[in-house]
Amino acid sequence: MRAARQTLRRPDDLIAAGLVAAERRAAIEAVAARYALAVTADVAELIDPADSQDPIARQFVPEPAELDASPQEMTDPIGDDAHSPVEGIVHRYPDRVLLKPVHVCAVYCRFCFRRETVGQGRALSRAQLTAALDYIRTHGEIWEVILSGGDPLVLAPRRLAQIVEALAAIEHVKVIRVHTRIPVVEPARITPALVRALRARGKATYVVLHVNHARELTANARAACARLVDAGIPMLSQSVLLRGINDDATVLGELMRTLVECRIKPYYLHHGDLAPGTAHFRTGIEQGQDLMRALRGRLSGLCQPTYVLDIPGGHGKSPIGPGYLTHIGGGHGTARYQVEDFNGRTHAYPPRP
Ligand code: SF4
Repeated sequence: MRAARQTLRRPDDLIAAGLVAAERRAAIEAVAARYALAVTADVAELIDPADSQDPIARQFVPEPAELDASPQEMTDPIGDDAHSPVEGIVHRYPDRVLLKPVHVCAVYCRFCFRRETVGQGRALSRAQLTAALDYIRTHGEIWEVILSGGDPLVLAPRRLAQIVEALAAIEHVKVIRVHTRIPVVEPARITPALVRALRARGKATYVVLHVNHARELTANARAACARLVDAGIPMLSQSVLLRGINDDATVLGELMRTLVECRIKPYYLHHGDLAPGTAHFRTGIEQGQDLMRALRGRLSGLCQPTYVLDIPGGHGKSPIGPGYLTHIGGGHGTARYQVEDFNGRTHAYPPRP
């Protein structure tokens, strides 16, 4: 029997909802003692308990394999700490910063790259937020601020509006980008008040949706995204390539097409980060490149995300292919190339005359 409209936060809640068998209680409790657990009612309703490989369940229901950390995995896989000049800010690239006002999410993805820090119930104190905003104010090179976390859309609209207004008042900040999973995992939170809070006066606000499977884009999720887009907020997506969940050209293609139909431009397909206990979710990079080739071969250019890897240790994101252009001779200015078309056939491209 499913609990009605409540977020499931304990292993017993998952058992009562029929998402975990009672005999697995001890194993799931061991995982939940180590990493945060939350499954919203919207997500729970999407899960097919009869399917042991359900792609929604696998993203949110804990698995004992999460306790098997491999030596190459790290607590801070994308190196946030190395680029954090003040609490709540990550300044990795010259023209943009992450601002992390909260460390909580509505759900906890089992493959989360910040799983060692999210879910601890912490938010920036008033003093820390003031210091973070001061950092942005005093760094004129910061053109874009990315609200991330945690999920910034768990904040009440009034609190979110205060942050957005403070950022919008900084002359050199021109773009505010919000990274969130809320429109798919708790779409009712995308209220008119929240949409108003996101609109920064005189600045551009973008919302980037984290979504990994077309089934997450329910009618309610689509309506929530439409409320944002109709208010003039462009939406992009980011997805994580996940073994057994979306590492299939048909599944991935359906996700990208559904996003575009919802007026959301696919932006990033992330190769899985080296977060602790997530090896069972990761694919090989060559598999990701094969999938990207398959998408290129069958879907509109609008549906193509960029396949990216966050280089472990905090060295930033790099596109990791596949490449379609091969240098076959000549030097700078006289180079000859071979270029691959969407069917995998290669063609010569002549040097400059
Ligand atoms: S929504 Fe993002 S930050 Fe939160 S648990 Fe999922 S991946 Fe981690």
